[in-house]
Amino acid sequence: MSDSPEAPAIAPVSALMRRAKVRAATEHTTVGVVRTDPDGVVSIACACGMTLTNGPTWSLDEHIRLHRAEARFLALAAVAPDGIPRLVDWPLQS
Ligand SMILES: [Zn+2]
Repeated sequence: MSDSPEAPAIAPVSALMRRAKVRAATEHTTVGVVRTDPDGVVSIACACGMTLTNGPTWSLDEHIRLHRAEARFLALAAVAPDGIPRLVDWPLQS
C-alpha cells in the first residue's frame, strides 16, 4: 500500500538514526548479575563501563531506564539531520 503512487511521501527514519539507536542499545546492555552490598546498595554493570545503582531516592530499575534513555538520546541527537527542531539545545553545553 505505502508504495502505491498515490500514497503520500513519508520520509523514513534514516538508516543513520536507526543504526545509532541499535548501537546505543548494544553498548548499554547490563552485564552480569545484580549485586547487593551489605549496606543495601544494589548495582549492576553496564557494557559501557558504568556501574548502575540504586540510591536514596531512586531504584536500580530507574537508573537503568534513565541510563538507556540518555544513551539513546545522545546517539540519536548526534546523527539527527541538520536543522531539525530540537527540544534540547545541541550540541550539549558542558
Ligand atoms: Zn552504559
